[in-house]
Amino acid sequence: MSNKQLIEQFEQRETPFYHYDLGLLRKTIEKVKKLAQEYDFDIHYAVKANSNVPILKEFQAAGFGADCVSGNEVSLAAECGFPTSDILFAGVGKTDKEIKTALKLNIKAFNCESSQEIEILNGLAAEEGKVAEISLRINPNVDAKTHKYITTGLDENKFGINHSDLPKIVEEIKAYNNIHLTGVHFHIGSQITDLNVFKGLCLRVNEIQHWFQEQGIEITHLNLGGGLGIDYQKPDTNSIADFEQYFQIFSEFLERKPEQKVHFELGRSMVAQCGALVSRVVFVKKGINTDFVIVDAGMTELLRPALYQSYHQIDNISSKKAPQIYDVVGPICESTDCFGKAMTLPETQRGDFILIRSAGAYGEVMTSRYNLRDQHEALYTE
Ligand SMILES: *Cc1c(COP(=O)(O)O)cnc(C)c1O
Repeated sequence: MSNKQLIEQFEQRETPFYHYDLGLLRKTIEKVKKLAQEYDFDIHYAVKANSNVPILKEFQAAGFGADCVSGNEVSLAAECGFPTSDILFAGVGKTDKEIKTALKLNIKAFNCESSQEIEILNGLAAEEGKVAEISLRINPNVDAKTHKYITTGLDENKFGINHSDLPKIVEEIKAYNNIHLTGVHFHIGSQITDLNVFKGLCLRVNEIQHWFQEQGIEITHLNLGGGLGIDYQKPDTNSIADFEQYFQIFSEFLERKPEQKVHFELGRSMVAQCGALVSRVVFVKKGINTDFVIVDAGMTELLRPALYQSYHQIDNISSKKAPQIYDVVGPICESTDCFGKAMTLPETQRGDFILIRSAGAYGEVMTSRYNLRDQHEALYTE
């Protein structure tokens, strides 16, 4: 869709709101689906990246499973038509209520992260008269080389079971009648752009598999998590992530037995580029060292820059004037409410439409009402 057509649609609405390009989403999904079929990989969509129902339905229609991190995500995935036999439930702090919800829905498996969680799950499954299938989320101590707030696979992180605790936990599981251990699960971080990191993960997973083999435990499910990064710098040139290379690495370096299923839980890489946060310029303000473009979107709509110091491309689609340098900021009473410093934009004026790009993942899902902000429905175009 051209900028002119977009502006016509945007003018009908109150800003800020999220705009999703379903055409790009479908192209991305098709790409992943084709590669996954070639390699016989099983794809789950990580619901937490974006849980809007129209988006979930695209993944459901493609035949992907759902990877959930809360009871409400499990319920929503089931309501959106994901077969419950394709729903996984991960998370370090599953409550009894959430576990019961997932047990009642007969989800495929729980990705368990601690000895106590497995003990509690066994008890709750016994109450329901069920046997819960589990994977152990193992902390492989592999550095994802990404922002420290989105690194999850190092010993110092709260996620997963450390290798040194495995023997004890595996012993404990043997005594449980309502737990069936079938898999191992890894998720080492997000926005991983150095693909060598995934090679390192494969080699660690191979070692861990050998350990299980020595214990005489059969692992039928290998779950490698998500984490593939996208190009925040060049969303137009690289609108689809490098899934070819990503899957190729696992195909080459991961040891896989013929009967083993290999799962991925991709979030960001499938939805980030199809979403943009749309806002209008409220004021342009001259500063001492910089000029400020003050937009009507803030960290309440897109928290990533404030939370992870993340970069997003910013476009002014209303102006074709000469480029200038601005700090693009929101209206919220926090100094971190800034979308970009020293950004080059065409000369900008009040009322222009500003797009904050690559915001489809971990954007709208983190919206808050801080400052009693209004919330506006998303716009979906094909
Ligand atoms: C968040 C998460 C994912 C998805 O990560 P992306 O970086 O968005 O691909 C996958 N698995 C688990 C367990 C997660 O918590």
